[in-house]
Amino acid sequence: MSRAAEGVAAVTDVPRAQRIYVNRNLRLGSVRAIGFDMDHTLAVYKAQPFERLAFREAQKKLVAAGYARTLLRLRYDQTFVVRGLIVDKRRGNILKMDCHHYVVQTYHGTRKIPAEMRKDLYARRRLRIGGATYTPVDTLFSLPEISLYAQMVDLLDAAERKPNYRELYDDVRAAVDAAHADGSIKDRIARDPLRFLEVDAHLPAILERIVTHGVRLFLLTNSEAAYTRLIMDRLLSGVLDAHPYWTDYFDLVVVRAGKPGFFARHDVLRPLAQDALGLARLRRPRFSFTGGSVGALEHALGLSGDEILYFGDHTYGDIMKSKRSCGWRTAMIIRSLEDEITHLQAAREEWSAREGIERRLDRLAASRDFLERAIEGEVSAEAVRRFMRAAGLRGGVAQLRRHAQGLAQQMRTLVAEAEGLEMRFEESFNPYWGPIFRAGREVSHFGSQIEDFACIYTSRVSNFLNYPMDKYFVTGHVLMPHEM
Ligand SMILES: [Mg+2]
Repeated sequence: MSRAAEGVAAVTDVPRAQRIYVNRNLRLGSVRAIGFDMDHTLAVYKAQPFERLAFREAQKKLVAAGYARTLLRLRYDQTFVVRGLIVDKRRGNILKMDCHHYVVQTYHGTRKIPAEMRKDLYARRRLRIGGATYTPVDTLFSLPEISLYAQMVDLLDAAERKPNYRELYDDVRAAVDAAHADGSIKDRIARDPLRFLEVDAHLPAILERIVTHGVRLFLLTNSEAAYTRLIMDRLLSGVLDAHPYWTDYFDLVVVRAGKPGFFARHDVLRPLAQDALGLARLRRPRFSFTGGSVGALEHALGLSGDEILYFGDHTYGDIMKSKRSCGWRTAMIIRSLEDEITHLQAAREEWSAREGIERRLDRLAASRDFLERAIEGEVSAEAVRRFMRAAGLRGGVAQLRRHAQGLAQQMRTLVAEAEGLEMRFEESFNPYWGPIFRAGREVSHFGSQIEDFACIYTSRVSNFLNYPMDKYFVTGHVLMPHEM
């Protein structure tokens, strides 16, 4: 068997949740350097304790800033916020959009906005995401703050006649930022990392394999040196004999990178003190840096553009910017992909039942259209006779009318059945928002960003162990509607 065939044979055995999915062809063998973001990419946090911690610390900051103590009674609802949502800061609403920027679901605070009102608000508006009003929920760090914001919108509505939702949003944002910046969150994690970190036992093996294939490895994180050292030490040090200390895996480490600005500015990389990452004997002198910019990093590596593959979890800060500004190849780590695939497999029956109903609806609609034209006398007598024979009908126009009414009734029943299935399908993913990659019939806004900017995507870095290092990741043939 050829090596390529071996790769294919192995891949079909890989469980769906552990596969790598491809948006752009990528020849792993031509990648010369692989870079990783740290938080939520190499370092996977346990969602519940991690998000609850951020939620609680933000609550405390808000109370310290003058908000009522009753705020401390709010509890984090992990299901209420998913990635890819949009916050309408002006109206205190949270939205889900499809790939055409059409709003398919809306909550005001935590209360669902009825479809009619939603259409009045958003159907004729082109939402400018990232502007003054609409802000995306595109990092896992944002989930707790949006849950807190939504619950505070409810409180604000109860307390004030003219609530200022934008000010509230800014306050919540500032509270979360402060909790990250002053160490309230990170110090707590540092005291007991294993309570918050999910250590992936396969991570050292995949990094080792990359290194032994002569591909250069770098870490590019926004976290500061002390925190990076603490987390990476837990994940990688003392596991493999060939790389006793975590820095042994990497050619280059950049901390406090300040992404996404890192991909746009022109700063030089400033060397870190020798012991900043916890080791006096560094493998290479001055290999660890702070700040800097993409140009300086490419210069230090002696590589650029599509020779570099970068793994990140942040749609905007990691994937969009590195792809757009410097043509890096991109791999997106989407932890919730595993859940999404599990739900997708469980809901397969609903999905195919709904497709069956749609095919029946299409056929009924064609018959109804024919009948309407027949009743209006727009169809030849011969065609009407043929139709009536096939449908087992006798008599004249009155009989055609009765049959058309019967069809309309059948269609209404089927539409209701399809809606019920659709709702059950959606709710099996998430009771508020449905699947993160779909918005009704369309790909969601989040899904379309992944399609546009992530060359490949998967649920965790160690999934690469399932593939050979010279793997050619190929997309399926994507057809335009007229080509199907
Ligand atoms: Mg990250």
